[in-house]
Amino acid sequence: MNVSRKKLLILASKLGYQTRGFADAAEALGIQVHFATDRCHKLDDPWSDGAVPLHFEKPQDAAEEIVQRFAGKPPDAILALGDRPTPTAAYAARALGIAGNAPEAVERCRSKLMQRETLRAAGLPVPEFLSFPLNEPFENIVTQVKFPCVVKPLSLAASQGVIRADNKTQFGAAVSRIQSLLQSPEIQVTRESALDRLLIEAYIPGREVAVEGLLDQGKLKILALFDKPDPLEGPYFEETIYVAPSRLTGAQQSALRDCAVHAVHALGLTHGPIHAEFRINDAGPWILEIAPRPIGGLCSRALRFGPQRISLEELLLRHALGLDGTNVEREPDASGVMMIPVPRSGIFERVEGLEEAGRVPNVAEIRITARLKDYVAAWPEGSSYLGFIFSRAQTPNEAEAALRAAHSKLRFEFSPRLPVGHPITGRISA
Ligand code: ADP
Repeated sequence: MNVSRKKLLILASKLGYQTRGFADAAEALGIQVHFATDRCHKLDDPWSDGAVPLHFEKPQDAAEEIVQRFAGKPPDAILALGDRPTPTAAYAARALGIAGNAPEAVERCRSKLMQRETLRAAGLPVPEFLSFPLNEPFENIVTQVKFPCVVKPLSLAASQGVIRADNKTQFGAAVSRIQSLLQSPEIQVTRESALDRLLIEAYIPGREVAVEGLLDQGKLKILALFDKPDPLEGPYFEETIYVAPSRLTGAQQSALRDCAVHAVHALGLTHGPIHAEFRINDAGPWILEIAPRPIGGLCSRALRFGPQRISLEELLLRHALGLDGTNVEREPDASGVMMIPVPRSGIFERVEGLEEAGRVPNVAEIRITARLKDYVAAWPEGSSYLGFIFSRAQTPNEAEAALRAAHSKLRFEFSPRLPVGHPITGRISA
C-alpha cells in the first residue's frame, strides 16, 4: 500500500500547536493532510493552509460541505481535534463511507446532559443530575438541589464554567456567573445548541484520573491511565498535573478499565481516540466524561509508545489510515505534564525563571503557549493554560515532583486588562 497516496482530513476549531503536531507527524509519514476549521479565516491563517471553512455547530451541513469539497477524491480518514468538530467528523465519515463513529453516538457525547442520560440508563455509575433552562426561576431550581453539587454548561470544554457549590448562596453565585459566561459574545458566537441550559450534578469526591484510549472495531485499548494528583476539590476545576503510569492499585485500575469499556459501549462509540475522566472512591469508579477525541493541548507530548517511542499523533494517524505499527504499549518510563494554571486574569506581561525551571532534574521541556500582551482569563471563565511543563523519570513520584519543582521556579506577571476588553472573558472583539 502506498502511504504517500493516503489522504487525511483534520477537523479543528483552532489551528494551533495541537494541529501542528498532527501535521508534522503526517508529513513524516508521507501522508497528505487537509484541514477544515471554523476559526475566523481572514484573521488567522498562520500557515497559509487554505483550510476549508466550516460551521461545526451545524454538523450535518458541514459534513455535506466536506463531501462536496472532496467530491471524486475523498480523504481516507477524518480526525477531529477538540470536542466541537466531533459530530461533523462522524457525519462526514458516514457520508463518505469511511471508518468513523456513528453520528448518534458522538451527539450523545457532545451534550453533557445526553451523555449522563445514556450512561444512567445503562446502569453505569454517574453522579445524580438535574438540568434546567437558564431562565427558570431560581427558587424552582434551588429546592431540588442537594449539596455539595457541581454546576456546569452542557457543551463547553476544559472545565470552563464548571463550578462547585456547597450551599444555596454559592449555588446562586455559580448560576449567575455561568449565565454571564454563556451570554458573553465569545461564547454566543459559537452558536452551540445548548447555551441556554445548565447541568447540576452531585459532587463526587475521590481521586481523579484521565484515560487515553483507542477504539478499533468497538474494542477499547487503554493507551494510558494518568493520575491527577492535585486535589481538584473546586470551586473551579482548572487542570494541573497528569502523571503516568497510574499509582492506583491493580484492582482499581482494572475497575476503571471495565467501567471505560462499558461506558463506550453504552454510548455506542466504536472507532478512534477517546479521552475520558473518571473519579474513584470507596464506591468504585465514577464516569465524569467521555469524549471521542484525543487528549488536548500539548499534553500528548507526555506520551510515547513502543520501542521506537512513537508519538500519540503518529499512533493515531497510523490507526486512522489503517497502517501497521499500532499494536504498541506506552513506554515503561514515568512521564508527567503540568498544564500551567492561570493564577489571575490579566494581560500576560512576562514570565521569569524559565532557565532555572528547565534545569530541574527530570524536566524534559517547558513550553509557554500564552502570548505576551494577550489577555488570559483565570478559571472558571478561562479555558486555556499559560503553557505546559513536561517531565520524564523512573517513577511517577519523581515525574510529579519535577513538575512541582519546575513550576515553583516560574513567576508570571500580569497587568490589569485594557478597558476595551469584554467584561467576562476580556477578549477584544474584532
Ligand atoms: P469539561 O468537559 O469542561 O472538562 P467536566 O464535566 O469534565 O467538564 O468537568 C471538569 C472537571 O470538573 C472534572 O475533571 C472534575 O475535576 C470536575 N467535576 C465535574 N463534575 C464533577 C462532579 N460531578 N463531581 C466532582 N467533580 C466534578
